[in-house]
Amino acid sequence: MSRSIASKSPAQAVLEGGGVLVHRAFPRPGLEQVDPFLLFDHMGPFTVGRGNATGFPDHPHRGFETVTYMLQGEFEHADSAGNRGRIETGGAQWMTAGDGIVHSEMPARRLLEEGGTLEGVQIWVNLPRSQKRIAPRYQDVAPGDIPTIEVPGGSVRVVSGSAFGASGPASTHSPILMLHVRLDPHSSLTIPAPREHSALAVRLRGSDANTLEVFASDDDEIEIDGRDDGADVLVLVAEPLREPVARAGPFVMNTRDELLEAFDDYEAGRLGRISA
Ligand code: FE
Repeated sequence: MSRSIASKSPAQAVLEGGGVLVHRAFPRPGLEQVDPFLLFDHMGPFTVGRGNATGFPDHPHRGFETVTYMLQGEFEHADSAGNRGRIETGGAQWMTAGDGIVHSEMPARRLLEEGGTLEGVQIWVNLPRSQKRIAPRYQDVAPGDIPTIEVPGGSVRVVSGSAFGASGPASTHSPILMLHVRLDPHSSLTIPAPREHSALAVRLRGSDANTLEVFASDDDEIEIDGRDDGADVLVLVAEPLREPVARAGPFVMNTRDELLEAFDDYEAGRLGRISA
C-alpha cells in the first residue's frame, strides 16, 4: 500500500520571462498551490542560438523562495544585492527572496557564444508568515554537493531533506524533501512521505512527460514506478504551511494589503535595482 494519486493533470505550456517556453504544472485554474509549493515550471529543453539572450531579465520577488534546478546548460544570475553566480548542469540555486530582491536569470555566456541546450526546473516555495520578510539569501548548490544514491533499478539525487541515508545540501525554512528520481523501465521506488505532508511528482520525460501527480493523504509513503519507458521524475514532499495566500505576479504574501505594500516598495525602488 502507498499513497494513492488524488489528481493527475497535464502541465500547461506558457511563455515566461523573455519568451521562454515552460510547462507549468501549477498554478493553474483549479490548482493555485500544493501547499507550501506555489509554482512548478519545467523550462525547456530549448536550444539557445548564438547571441540569443532569451531568459528571465530583471524582475522582483518578495515573500517566498525560488528554487532552480538545472538539467541541461547553465544559467547566470545577478541581483540587486550585487550577487552574481552560475547554476551549473545538475546544480541548484535555492534563493530566499524574503523581504525583496530584483534579479535576472539568463543563459550562461558560454551558451550564448557557442549555442547549446537549456533545461531546468523552477519551483516557488512559500515562506511562513513569520519569515516572509527575512533578509534575502542565496544557497548555490554545486552539482557535486548533491548526493546521488544508487537504489535498485535507478538513482536518487537528494537536493533537500533526508532520504535513503542521505541529506540534501539545501537548508529550508520548513521541512521539504526534494528528490530527482531516475528509474529503469519496470522498476519502482518507495519514498517516505508522511500523510500529513503534501506530496507531488512531475515526470520530466517519457510518455507522461510534464504530468503532475498529487498524492492523497492515505498512507505514509509514495511509490514511483518506471513504467515501460523508465522514469525521470522530480518529487517534492513537504509540510504544508496552512496560511492564507495573497499572490500577484512576483509577490506572495498573506494579505492583500501586504501585496499592495510590495508593489509600492518595488515601484519606489526599495527592492533595489541591478547595477550594470
Ligand atoms: Fe525570478
